[in-house]
Amino acid sequence: MLQYRKMSTMPRLAKNYRLVFDVVRKQGHGRHLATADVFRLVKRRRVGIGFTTVYRALAKLRDLGLISEIHLPGADSAYYEPAGDAHAHFRCDLCGSVKDIAYVPSKRVVAQLAQSNAIEVNDVILSLHGRCVSCRERESA
Ligand SMILES: [Zn+2]
Ligand SMILES: [Zn+2]
Repeated sequence: MLQYRKMSTMPRLAKNYRLVFDVVRKQGHGRHLATADVFRLVKRRRVGIGFTTVYRALAKLRDLGLISEIHLPGADSAYYEPAGDAHAHFRCDLCGSVKDIAYVPSKRVVAQLAQSNAIEVNDVILSLHGRCVSCRERESA
């Protein structure tokens, strides 16, 4: 029986997705990888892989809910982390480091904001900005 081209390329695609997912997952929680970081780490394991493939895999994994994509003001790239509990992010204005902040606004507060503004809230994405511990220490030294 003839094998369709599509059937022979599908497993290769799945493999790439798995590889990209593995790289993000292995970084663990609290680590945030820029697109370029993911590409660099994936390339270590599969030298021939292209940037577009990695980029597409990240979008797919995000759509599947396996990883979280984070956009922070001032950052050139999105950041990726394994999907997990909701939290806020802190980004240092000086060095650009990103840190998890264990905070989610209470459901009651969000419900009040929704009611008083006559809106429906589907998602709350919170980011804090300022100077990180290292930058603060460097400045006071
Ligand atoms: Zn800093
Ligand atoms: Zn995070």
